[in-house]
Amino acid sequence: MELVRMTWEEVARLPVDCVALLPVGAVEQHGPVLPLGTDAAIASHLGRVVAGRGDRLLLPALTVGVSREHRQFPGTLSVSPDQLRDLAISCGRSLGAHGILRLVFVNGHGSNAAPLAEAALRLRGESVYAFTFNWWLAVPETLAALFPQADAHGGAVETSAMLVIDPESVRIDRMADASADRGAYAPWGRFVEGVQVAFDAVEFSDLGNVGDPSLADEEKGRTILSEAAERLDRFCDWLAAQSEDALRPPA
Ligand SMILES: [Zn+2]
Repeated sequence: MELVRMTWEEVARLPVDCVALLPVGAVEQHGPVLPLGTDAAIASHLGRVVAGRGDRLLLPALTVGVSREHRQFPGTLSVSPDQLRDLAISCGRSLGAHGILRLVFVNGHGSNAAPLAEAALRLRGESVYAFTFNWWLAVPETLAALFPQADAHGGAVETSAMLVIDPESVRIDRMADASADRGAYAPWGRFVEGVQVAFDAVEFSDLGNVGDPSLADEEKGRTILSEAAERLDRFCDWLAAQSEDALRPPA
């Protein structure tokens, strides 16, 4: 079920164990191959797939996230961590006021994770049982097996996913320039004696991608997306099955 296509009367009739899914993305540069909306596209895709199974409520995505580390690239939009946290809390409170107490943030972007974790913590203190599903952390073994090369941002992983979700948005003709041959294998950040000393993408990637999009593969994209959706689906089943007593944090 998609919230924005429902009426308030239909929402009022939702069962108490309904799980709401809030995709959270980013609008930020993803190198020359992928569009700015990549993270929102992946989070929305997972939310849509899983909301189609059973009593799950798909909320409209929060498409702008915390993207300060990409601000030097045109088109990047960013909110502060406090703004994202507060927006996520407000959405959760709005649902909770009408008895929808189970909420999953389906997150597509690393820098959103900490503010969403804080939002979820505060909401649980208000008896709205919110949790964050960071999709790339859900399938670590599969990611490591299919993508052994360093890949942090706008590289093979996200490009593979986008070849499935929105293939026309992938600029195949820009892959060669963004490939590892041009130095795009740099890890995220720059380190001196183990201490991170560079934080913005522009400091260690001229084109913005950190990872090699030319290694993308549609079939691998299908595998990681379907495995991530399976995990999210099983988590929603678990959350729906928990009583409020079981979900309430200890006093
Ligand atoms: Zn991304």
